[in-house]
Amino acid sequence: CGIVGYTGPQSALDVVIAGLRRLEYRGYDSAGVAVQTAGADGQWLLSTDKRAGKLVNLEKSLAETPLPAGTTGIGHTRWATHGGPTDANAHPHLDDHRKVAVVHNGIIENFARLRADLTDRGRTLRSETDTEVVAHLLAEAYDGDLAEAMRAVCRQLDGAFTLVAVHADAPGTVVGARRNSPLVVGVGDGENFLASDVAAFIAHTREAVELGQDQVVELRPEGVTVTNFDGTPAEVREYHVDWDASA
Ligand code: GLU
Repeated sequence: CGIVGYTGPQSALDVVIAGLRRLEYRGYDSAGVAVQTAGADGQWLLSTDKRAGKLVNLEKSLAETPLPAGTTGIGHTRWATHGGPTDANAHPHLDDHRKVAVVHNGIIENFARLRADLTDRGRTLRSETDTEVVAHLLAEAYDGDLAEAMRAVCRQLDGAFTLVAVHADAPGTVVGARRNSPLVVGVGDGENFLASDVAAFIAHTREAVELGQDQVVELRPEGVTVTNFDGTPAEVREYHVDWDASA
Protein backbone atom coordinates (compact mmCIF):
# COMPACT_ATOMS: atom_id res chain seq x y z
CA CYS A 1 0.00 0.00 0.00
CA GLY A 2 2.63 2.58 1.07
CA ILE A 3 6.27 2.40 -0.04
CA VAL A 4 9.30 4.47 0.98
CA GLY A 5 12.97 4.09 0.02
CA TYR A 6 15.97 6.21 0.98
CA THR A 7 19.70 6.52 0.34
CA GLY A 8 21.88 9.36 1.59
CA PRO A 9 23.60 10.55 4.76
CA GLN A 10 20.62 10.45 7.14
CA SER A 11 19.34 7.58 9.28
CA ALA A 12 17.39 5.52 6.75
CA LEU A 13 15.14 4.16 9.48
CA ASP A 14 14.11 7.65 10.63
CA VAL A 15 13.42 8.85 7.07
CA VAL A 16 11.51 5.69 6.15
CA ILE A 17 9.34 5.57 9.29
CA ALA A 18 8.49 9.29 8.98
CA GLY A 19 7.62 8.69 5.33
CA LEU A 20 5.39 5.72 6.14
CA ARG A 21 3.66 7.88 8.73
CA ARG A 22 2.81 10.39 5.96
CA LEU A 23 1.20 7.56 3.97
CA GLU A 24 -0.88 6.18 6.86
CA TYR A 25 -4.02 7.94 5.63
CA ARG A 26 -4.25 5.34 2.85
CA GLY A 27 -4.98 2.55 5.36
CA TYR A 28 -2.91 -0.60 5.96
CA ASP A 29 -2.72 -3.71 8.14
CA SER A 30 1.03 -4.25 8.70
CA ALA A 31 4.35 -2.41 8.42
CA GLY A 32 8.02 -3.25 7.98
CA VAL A 33 11.49 -1.93 7.20
CA ALA A 34 14.88 -3.14 5.91
CA VAL A 35 18.12 -1.22 6.42
CA GLN A 36 21.60 -1.93 5.06
CA THR A 37 23.90 -2.21 8.07
CA ALA A 38 27.59 -3.06 8.53
CA GLY A 39 28.21 -6.51 10.03
CA ALA A 40 30.99 -7.34 12.52
CA ASP A 41 33.24 -8.73 9.78
CA GLY A 42 32.96 -5.64 7.57
CA GLN A 43 30.35 -7.32 5.34
CA TRP A 44 27.07 -5.53 4.70
CA LEU A 45 23.85 -7.14 5.80
CA LEU A 46 20.17 -6.40 5.77
CA SER A 47 18.57 -5.72 9.14
CA THR A 48 14.80 -5.98 9.11
CA ASP A 49 11.74 -5.81 11.29
CA LYS A 50 8.06 -6.19 10.34
CA ARG A 51 4.87 -6.37 12.33
CA ALA A 52 1.18 -6.90 11.77
CA GLY A 53 -0.91 -3.96 12.90
CA LYS A 54 -0.26 -0.24 13.06
CA LEU A 55 3.11 1.47 12.68
CA VAL A 56 3.23 1.87 16.45
CA ASN A 57 3.60 -1.94 16.76
CA LEU A 58 6.67 -1.79 14.52
CA GLU A 59 8.04 1.20 16.44
CA LYS A 60 7.53 -0.60 19.76
CA SER A 61 9.39 -3.62 18.43
CA LEU A 62 12.23 -1.40 17.11
CA ALA A 63 12.46 0.32 20.51
CA GLU A 64 12.81 -3.06 22.24
CA THR A 65 15.28 -4.46 19.71
CA PRO A 66 16.87 -1.55 17.84
CA LEU A 67 18.31 -2.12 14.38
CA PRO A 68 21.96 -1.18 13.81
CA ALA A 69 22.32 2.25 12.18
CA GLY A 70 22.24 2.50 8.41
CA THR A 71 21.77 5.15 5.74
CA THR A 72 20.08 3.11 3.01
CA GLY A 73 16.73 1.46 3.56
CA ILE A 74 13.18 0.67 2.48
CA GLY A 75 9.81 0.44 4.21
CA HIS A 76 6.24 -0.64 3.53
CA THR A 77 2.75 -0.45 4.89
CA ARG A 78 0.77 -3.44 3.62
CA TRP A 79 -2.82 -3.85 2.59
CA ALA A 80 -3.04 -7.64 2.32
CA THR A 81 -4.30 -9.21 -0.90
CA HIS A 82 -2.56 -12.65 -0.73
CA GLY A 83 -2.12 -14.07 2.76
CA GLY A 84 -3.59 -12.67 5.96
CA PRO A 85 -2.21 -9.74 7.93
CA THR A 86 0.51 -11.55 9.92
CA ASP A 87 4.12 -10.71 10.84
CA ALA A 88 5.36 -13.33 8.34
CA ASN A 89 3.29 -11.91 5.48
CA ALA A 90 4.28 -8.30 6.22
CA HIS A 91 6.89 -6.80 3.90
CA PRO A 92 9.87 -6.63 3.35
CA HIS A 93 10.33 -10.16 2.02
CA LEU A 94 13.78 -11.73 1.82
CA ASP A 95 15.45 -14.55 -0.11
CA ASP A 96 16.92 -17.64 1.62
CA HIS A 97 20.30 -15.96 2.21
CA ARG A 98 18.88 -12.59 3.36
CA LYS A 99 20.71 -10.86 0.51
CA VAL A 100 17.66 -9.17 -1.00
CA ALA A 101 14.78 -7.35 0.68
CA VAL A 102 11.77 -6.29 -1.37
CA VAL A 103 8.54 -4.39 -0.75
CA HIS A 104 5.60 -4.42 -3.14
CA ASN A 105 2.33 -2.70 -3.85
CA GLY A 106 -0.18 -4.43 -6.11
CA ILE A 107 -0.68 -8.01 -7.25
CA ILE A 108 1.66 -10.38 -9.11
CA GLU A 109 -0.81 -12.46 -11.05
CA ASN A 110 1.51 -15.29 -12.11
CA PHE A 111 3.03 -15.77 -8.64
CA ALA A 112 1.72 -19.35 -8.20
CA ARG A 113 3.73 -20.68 -11.14
CA LEU A 114 6.80 -18.65 -10.17
CA ARG A 115 6.48 -19.97 -6.63
CA ALA A 116 6.27 -23.58 -7.81
CA ASP A 117 9.36 -23.07 -10.01
CA LEU A 118 11.30 -21.57 -7.07
CA THR A 119 10.31 -24.46 -4.81
CA ASP A 120 11.47 -26.90 -7.53
CA ARG A 121 14.82 -25.08 -7.53
CA GLY A 122 15.14 -25.65 -3.77
CA ARG A 123 14.10 -22.23 -2.47
CA THR A 124 12.12 -21.96 0.76
CA LEU A 125 9.10 -19.66 0.66
CA ARG A 126 8.26 -18.31 4.12
CA SER A 127 5.05 -16.37 3.50
CA GLU A 128 1.73 -16.74 1.73
CA THR A 129 2.21 -13.56 -0.29
CA ASP A 130 2.46 -13.08 -4.04
CA THR A 131 5.37 -10.72 -3.26
CA GLU A 132 7.92 -13.11 -1.82
CA VAL A 133 8.73 -14.73 -5.19
CA VAL A 134 10.32 -11.43 -6.24
CA ALA A 135 12.92 -11.55 -3.43
CA HIS A 136 14.02 -15.05 -4.48
CA LEU A 137 13.99 -14.20 -8.19
CA LEU A 138 16.09 -11.06 -7.58
CA ALA A 139 18.60 -13.06 -5.52
CA GLU A 140 18.91 -15.59 -8.36
CA ALA A 141 19.19 -12.91 -11.05
CA TYR A 142 21.68 -10.68 -9.21
CA ASP A 143 25.11 -10.63 -10.78
CA GLY A 144 26.55 -7.37 -9.45
CA ASP A 145 23.91 -5.06 -10.97
CA LEU A 146 20.68 -4.80 -8.99
CA ALA A 147 18.88 -2.65 -11.61
CA GLU A 148 19.68 -5.25 -14.28
CA ALA A 149 18.38 -8.01 -11.98
CA MET A 150 15.19 -6.00 -11.40
CA ARG A 151 14.64 -5.52 -15.15
CA ALA A 152 15.13 -9.25 -15.78
CA VAL A 153 12.69 -10.18 -12.99
CA CYS A 154 10.06 -7.64 -14.05
CA ARG A 155 10.03 -9.07 -17.57
CA GLN A 156 8.77 -12.34 -15.99
CA LEU A 157 5.97 -10.75 -13.96
CA ASP A 158 2.31 -10.29 -14.86
CA GLY A 159 0.00 -7.94 -13.00
CA ALA A 160 0.25 -4.58 -11.29
CA PHE A 161 3.24 -3.76 -9.19
CA THR A 162 5.42 -1.17 -7.60
CA LEU A 163 8.56 -2.91 -6.37
CA VAL A 164 11.40 -1.45 -4.32
CA ALA A 165 14.44 -3.51 -3.32
CA VAL A 166 17.87 -3.40 -1.69
CA HIS A 167 20.70 -5.97 -1.86
CA ALA A 168 23.27 -6.53 0.90
CA ASP A 169 26.09 -6.54 -1.68
CA ALA A 170 25.01 -3.25 -3.29
CA PRO A 171 25.54 -0.74 -0.46
CA GLY A 172 24.00 2.67 -1.04
CA THR A 173 21.76 1.41 -3.85
CA VAL A 174 17.97 1.19 -3.88
CA VAL A 175 16.11 0.06 -7.01
CA GLY A 176 12.45 0.50 -7.90
CA ALA A 177 10.18 -0.66 -10.70
CA ARG A 178 6.62 -0.06 -11.71
CA ARG A 179 3.78 -1.31 -13.90
CA ASN A 180 0.18 -0.11 -13.45
CA SER A 181 1.00 1.22 -9.98
CA PRO A 182 2.68 4.53 -9.04
CA LEU A 183 6.30 5.20 -8.02
CA VAL A 184 7.86 8.64 -7.58
CA VAL A 185 11.51 9.60 -7.08
CA GLY A 186 12.36 12.48 -4.73
CA VAL A 187 15.58 14.09 -5.92
CA GLY A 188 17.68 15.53 -3.10
CA ASP A 189 21.18 16.94 -2.70
CA GLY A 190 23.47 13.99 -1.90
CA GLU A 191 20.39 11.91 -1.05
CA ASN A 192 17.46 10.47 -2.96
CA PHE A 193 14.03 9.11 -2.11
CA LEU A 194 11.51 6.68 -3.59
CA ALA A 195 7.85 6.55 -2.63
CA SER A 196 4.44 5.48 -3.79
CA ASP A 197 3.30 9.06 -3.10
CA VAL A 198 5.22 12.38 -2.90
CA ALA A 199 3.71 12.98 0.57
CA ALA A 200 6.33 10.58 1.93
CA PHE A 201 9.30 12.82 1.06
CA ILE A 202 8.17 16.43 0.63
CA ALA A 203 9.56 17.25 4.08
CA HIS A 204 12.98 16.63 2.45
CA THR A 205 12.67 17.62 -1.21
CA ARG A 206 10.11 18.97 -3.65
CA GLU A 207 12.01 17.94 -6.78
CA ALA A 208 10.36 14.82 -8.13
CA VAL A 209 10.48 12.41 -11.06
CA GLU A 210 7.45 10.29 -11.87
CA LEU A 211 8.48 6.85 -13.06
CA GLY A 212 6.87 5.84 -16.36
CA GLN A 213 5.16 2.57 -17.20
CA ASP A 214 7.52 -0.44 -17.24
CA GLN A 215 10.52 1.48 -15.96
CA VAL A 216 13.24 0.72 -13.41
CA VAL A 217 15.05 3.33 -11.35
CA GLU A 218 18.42 2.95 -9.67
CA LEU A 219 18.92 5.29 -6.74
CA ARG A 220 22.29 6.18 -5.24
CA PRO A 221 23.07 9.13 -2.95
CA GLU A 222 24.73 10.96 -5.85
CA GLY A 223 22.21 10.27 -8.59
CA VAL A 224 19.27 8.58 -10.20
CA THR A 225 19.23 6.42 -13.38
CA VAL A 226 16.00 5.41 -15.12
CA THR A 227 15.71 2.67 -17.74
CA ASN A 228 12.91 0.77 -19.44
CA PHE A 229 12.38 -2.92 -18.65
CA ASP A 230 14.35 -3.74 -21.84
CA GLY A 231 17.37 -1.79 -20.54
CA THR A 232 17.11 1.19 -22.88
CA PRO A 233 17.61 4.59 -21.20
CA ALA A 234 14.38 6.40 -20.28
CA GLU A 235 13.75 10.12 -20.45
CA VAL A 236 13.69 11.68 -16.98
CA ARG A 237 11.40 14.68 -16.47
CA GLU A 238 11.87 16.43 -13.16
CA TYR A 239 9.01 18.53 -11.78
CA HIS A 240 8.46 20.70 -8.72
CA VAL A 241 5.85 19.62 -6.17
CA ASP A 242 4.16 22.84 -5.11
CA TRP A 243 1.15 21.72 -3.10
CA ASP A 244 0.92 22.55 0.58
CA ALA A 245 2.80 19.96 2.66
CA SER A 246 1.02 20.82 5.88
CA ALA A 247 -2.34 19.62 4.55
N1 GLU B 1 -0.12 -8.28 -2.83
C1 GLU B 1 0.82 -7.93 -1.80
C2 GLU B 1 0.48 -8.62 -0.50
O1 GLU B 1 -0.61 -9.05 -0.30
C3 GLU B 1 0.93 -6.39 -1.62
C4 GLU B 1 -0.27 -5.75 -1.02
C5 GLU B 1 -0.15 -4.21 -0.95
O2 GLU B 1 -0.32 -3.55 -2.02
O3 GLU B 1 0.10 -3.68 0.15
O4 GLU B 1 1.30 -8.76 0.34
